[in-house]
Amino acid sequence: MSPLAKEQLDEIHRHAVEEYPFECCGIVIGKVGQNDQDILFRCTNIQNKLHEKDPETFVRDARTAYNIDPMELMKILKEVESKQLPIKVFYHSHPEHDAYFSEEDSRMALFDGEPNYPEASYLVVSVYDKKIRDQAMFNWNPEAKTFDRAPG
Ligand SMILES: [Zn+2]
Repeated sequence: MSPLAKEQLDEIHRHAVEEYPFECCGIVIGKVGQNDQDILFRCTNIQNKLHEKDPETFVRDARTAYNIDPMELMKILKEVESKQLPIKVFYHSHPEHDAYFSEEDSRMALFDGEPNYPEASYLVVSVYDKKIRDQAMFNWNPEAKTFDRAPG
């Protein structure tokens, strides 16, 4: 999948640092016309709220998990559908953890073993001590049925 523009990567890095020590999350939507820019949506991570309300179901808090505000997600998906835009990237950060695709990340991206958005890439940004340390892009591999780290 196409990599993100530098401005967007910078914006994602800023978001990751601002949300630290919690995970940030967001979505990048592809452009329509040739002169349009991709659109980056910062999403609200409601994991802390969920964890406070129901710690048995939501064992992790936002330091090691994210959950996109469902209203925001719905709004974005509506726009995507009505304008027939491609979802390019789902991103989130890993505070004090490396840029791997966790089992939980995989579980959230799948429904019944199949990806919700097979064309989308998943970007994970690693932040240690409020500094970006690493990042990795993951794409769905339909043969292996896993998310594989993109080269580079
Ligand atoms: Zn993750």
